[in-house]
Amino acid sequence: MSFLPDGSILKINNTLLKWLGYQREEIIPQKKITDLISNGNNIHYQMFFWPMINMSGKVKEVNYDLIKCTGELLPTLFTATAVKDAAGKLIAINTAISDITDRKKYEKELLNAKEHAVSEKKRFEILTNLIPEIIFTADSAGTIDYLNHRFFQYFRQTKTTFTIRSLIAKIYKDDRKKAIHAWTECINNKNNCEFEIRLMSATNEYEWHLIRLNPFYDTEGAVSKWFGSCYNIHKQVEALQRKDEFINVASHELKTPMTSLKAYLQILEQSEVPENFKVLVEKAISSFNNLQFLTTSLLDVSTINSGDLNLNFSRFSLSALIEECIEQVRFNYQSHQMIFEKQPMMPAFVLADKERMSEVIINLLNNAIKYSPDANKVIIRLIETPADFVTLEIEDFGIGISPDKSSIIFNRYYRVNNEASNKIKGLGLGLYIIQNIMLKHKSKIFLRSVPGKGSVFYFCLPLTGK
Ligand code: ADP
Repeated sequence: MSFLPDGSILKINNTLLKWLGYQREEIIPQKKITDLISNGNNIHYQMFFWPMINMSGKVKEVNYDLIKCTGELLPTLFTATAVKDAAGKLIAINTAISDITDRKKYEKELLNAKEHAVSEKKRFEILTNLIPEIIFTADSAGTIDYLNHRFFQYFRQTKTTFTIRSLIAKIYKDDRKKAIHAWTECINNKNNCEFEIRLMSATNEYEWHLIRLNPFYDTEGAVSKWFGSCYNIHKQVEALQRKDEFINVASHELKTPMTSLKAYLQILEQSEVPENFKVLVEKAISSFNNLQFLTTSLLDVSTINSGDLNLNFSRFSLSALIEECIEQVRFNYQSHQMIFEKQPMMPAFVLADKERMSEVIINLLNNAIKYSPDANKVIIRLIETPADFVTLEIEDFGIGISPDKSSIIFNRYYRVNNEASNKIKGLGLGLYIIQNIMLKHKSKIFLRSVPGKGSVFYFCLPLTGK
């Protein structure tokens, strides 16, 4: 479009006519540029455009809304050049106009998105400040970039005094290495993680905390943020310690009477007793075995907690040991058939602690039977795995374990809390003990399970020659 210094429109192309919805005769010579520019923009035109074009002869990319024939506004960008005569007098203004409706739309969307993000951030902060625990976020490299109010309250710090160094100084010195290692491992592996450390409170006392880190992935699958929490578990840890102390004392106190009881029962078993007493002696021995199994578990927990779990290694046939364990378990449970599937001629010689290994197998068999009250079989598989390893699998067809519980069930005193499990009694110690036994053998117990269908607990050991 071109127009004269008095604003009268001289030329207008078809494109602009189409955008505005006018016929050429409706514009030339009736309308002036100021008639086409919106009221709001007219002030800018007078105060900026006009002086600029006179002084410098150019105006670049100013944003004016033009009025369409319908009264609607069309957002545009104006770039103008002055046309002057030989004496330097302004005779016309040539303008190039572009429609920036889409750009405006995107700018608006961007602005809305930004406003939305700011309000979401505020919501997040309000929520995290309501929580009585410490909440934080970190960038993709693991550098903390947000801490809620509780953090500053707990450590009596201010936003200005806080540094990573000051935070590390709050970690109990024996836990620092563990914390830094767990944090960097988690950031590098891009996985959820949790670890327990002691932190110094405002009253200068160390308290146990559970730190949890969860990655947040962007649409391309890269970690863009870490969300973390720091949960005070001091009371729980103290309660656990009291439980451990009680179990330690109780298990040692039980040892002596149990030994005497065992001796008396053995004498009775070998003595001539009236026929009708024999069945009572058998029942007493069976009850004693159950009691012994329980007290052994309690003793084992004390041994593991004090770090005194030592192994006596010997070479033996795992296959033969499994047969013995099955026999022993069969004595207590007749409800289930125990099917031992193994390759023929497979003694599976291993170097391990035989007594401890039998404890592992018996515990897994007991659990397989206990937690499958509606089934009637358990399958035991001994499989030779490549690279001279042997795998022992114990499969049941019982209540199963949900995936979120598959690692926590190995914690001491942990029992799954649901209708099916609550009907079955236990102390929550078996898996903790046997996982520790396997870890001492540089191995580990794994689990595959489908809730409602059953579970397979399994572990591997290296073979030591055929
Ligand atoms: P306990 O059986 O004495 O409770 P464990 O340490 O042996 O203790 O097992 C811990 C928990 O794991 C159990 O309470 C139970 O909820 C679950 N569990 C163990 N074995 C099985 C299994 N074979 N099937 C289903 N749940 C199991």
